Amino acid sequence: MTDEQSRDDESRNLPAGPESARPAHEVPGTPTAGGDFTTPLGPATGFEVTFSAMFKRRLTEQYPEQKKVTAPRFHGRHQLNRHPDGLEKCIGCELCAWACPADAIYVEGADNTEEERYSPGERYGRVYQINYLRCILCGLCIEACPTRALTMTNTFELADDSREKLIYTKAELLVGLTEGMVAPPHEMYPGTSDEDYYRGEVTAAAPGTERQEIHDTAAVDALAMAAAGESPDIVRQPAWRTAKEREEARS
Ligand code: SF4
Ligand code: SF4
Repeated sequence: MTDEQSRDDESRNLPAGPESARPAHEVPGTPTAGGDFTTPLGPATGFEVTFSAMFKRRLTEQYPEQKKVTAPRFHGRHQLNRHPDGLEKCIGCELCAWACPADAIYVEGADNTEEERYSPGERYGRVYQINYLRCILCGLCIEACPTRALTMTNTFELADDSREKLIYTKAELLVGLTEGMVAPPHEMYPGTSDEDYYRGEVTAAAPGTERQEIHDTAAVDALAMAAAGESPDIVRQPAWRTAKEREEARS
């Protein structure tokens, strides 16, 4: 340590000691975040991170022009599935709602009748909502579903400009019809039981299957909204209720 440095330490009440105890920027030849200004090439050391980053592979993604391809089992937006004849797989059991750690799912089940049938068996999901303001896309709900009615897709674009739009209703979650399907309500395939459906023995709607008259107001509203390309706000239920409030409502 030089006499000048000792005097400097004394004037700042710093303990006298070896150079290693001094701040790095005060020790000659020590590179610091701002570069070493005591040698001719010293200032360039401040750009060390910049120069090294210039030669690395770029990680910038050109979203939304180029959308990233997700992993096959990516947990994205949910989907409510149908049987091959168009009937819904959801039986309104609410197991998904109970499994959800974020209380993001709201389900109301209702009874099927022979005049108005939406799913094989006794019950169907009359109201179904997922609140994507709450959902953490953990997938526990799809594990809990006993009928594989609820699965997750690879869609990850779940941003919108209002809270209302991020509460997805049954009309938005229910998958569309494909070949061989008839839109419910309609009868089950003649001579089959709900177990036959779950064993995969029904592969298409029976010839001549006709749609039944719809009395379910939630279904009518959802259909009207879907036809108009609107978000069916009028059938929205309080999916934002807490678990405690939901238990109180059930008791
Ligand atoms: S993915 Fe997880 S947080 Fe989202 S609805 Fe399902 S259980 Fe709830
Ligand atoms: S999606 Fe599955 S777990 Fe949820 S109510 Fe329907 S059948 Fe039950």
